[in-house]
Amino acid sequence: MNRTLRGFRDILPPDSELFSAIEDAAREVFRLHGYREIRIPTLETKELFVKSTGDTTDIVEKEMYAFTDGGGREVAMRPEGTPGVARAYIEQNLSQGGRNAKLFYIGPMFRAERPQAGRYREFTQIGVECIGNPSPSADAESISLLVKVLEKAGAPGCTVELNTLGCSDCRRAYRDQLLGYLKLNTEALCEACRRRVDRNPMRALDCKVDGPWLADKAPHISLCPGCVEHFDRTQALLKAAGVDFKVNRTMVRGLDYYTRTVFEVKAGALGAQDAVAGGGRYDDLIKSMGGPAAPSVGWAMGLDRAALVIKAAGAAPEEKGPSAFFVASGKEAGLEAFRLMSDLRAVGIPADYSNFDLSMKSQMRSADRSGADYAVIIGEDELKSAACSLKPLKGQAGQESVPFAGLASRLAVKPA
Ligand code: AMP
Repeated sequence: MNRTLRGFRDILPPDSELFSAIEDAAREVFRLHGYREIRIPTLETKELFVKSTGDTTDIVEKEMYAFTDGGGREVAMRPEGTPGVARAYIEQNLSQGGRNAKLFYIGPMFRAERPQAGRYREFTQIGVECIGNPSPSADAESISLLVKVLEKAGAPGCTVELNTLGCSDCRRAYRDQLLGYLKLNTEALCEACRRRVDRNPMRALDCKVDGPWLADKAPHISLCPGCVEHFDRTQALLKAAGVDFKVNRTMVRGLDYYTRTVFEVKAGALGAQDAVAGGGRYDDLIKSMGGPAAPSVGWAMGLDRAALVIKAAGAAPEEKGPSAFFVASGKEAGLEAFRLMSDLRAVGIPADYSNFDLSMKSQMRSADRSGADYAVIIGEDELKSAACSLKPLKGQAGQESVPFAGLASRLAVKPA
């Protein structure tokens, strides 16, 4: 039998409906904040991610679905959205007109991680990028936007953690200082950190093995006055916007391009994989990719994890059946039922049926299971009187006879 690949899954109703509801909430919040949708390819050149996400990151080094295609090109399934958006910004000249680009995307990402609860090899991210605005107000707006999306989607218990990694100047000075420290302590490092220490010493801070003790013992970054001011101002703006957050000076993100502000949203309900969203400022990425100077900030939220948070809180929208489930016996009645169903749907009343060729008993069983408010029954008697029998399925007593012509207006009235 064919089975899905490990870490890949089918998302069925009602989960698929919860996913859509979160997407709808996000789209509404994005619209209010002037963000517009960008749709980017799922497959890009491998080089795009190697050069932007970073060749020493876990995502690129260990987790990327990269392969050589039939034409001999080195390609990769996107593990994240920012590099593709940055490429599009440059390639499509989105900087024209001097306006900031405020873009969002929703789509699948691929990472060959070890699957566990909340961690999949194909998952969906909702992400935003505000490109071209160096001001702390862009950082604060981006974070506040993320909190609003989670609130609107109904995900409770999320906390925002904030840090700054310094600008490229602060980072350059710190890189040398950290490299010196790591070289003196090579013995204590894990094999992966030892291997990449010269190429990218900063990665050790994000390593699952060495990160925790280095956060205690390694020297900390000193920030230049500009970075201190940027961080202070971002916090002041977040407070002004009523966003709760806590500063976590040891937070580093698993991607190379971040400068200055970085943030994560965590939810206790998720257990080990507790990050619902993460992001930060990337002031140099677009320039380093051959584009214009375009200081930017953005984030990505894991849709699968947001859904888990909402479900854990019992806050998923109630499952709703149709208003009317049609049950008909005989060819003529089936025809009438089909016509009435179509009339109801045309005026926005959800209607469903199973199969008019089956017995009434079997159709009634389906009606009971459907979660519908009413069964609309049409047999020989109903045909003769041109009135259907309306049977409540949600506990109310009684059955009433409703003329075919009056069915839509009768069902438009919500049941008590
Ligand atoms: P990142 O940019 O790697 O921090 O990813 C942003 C968000 O995407 C995370 O906070 C998670 O919510 C989600 N995410 C990342 N990797 C996975 C995965 N393998 N499975 C499910 N969600 C993920």
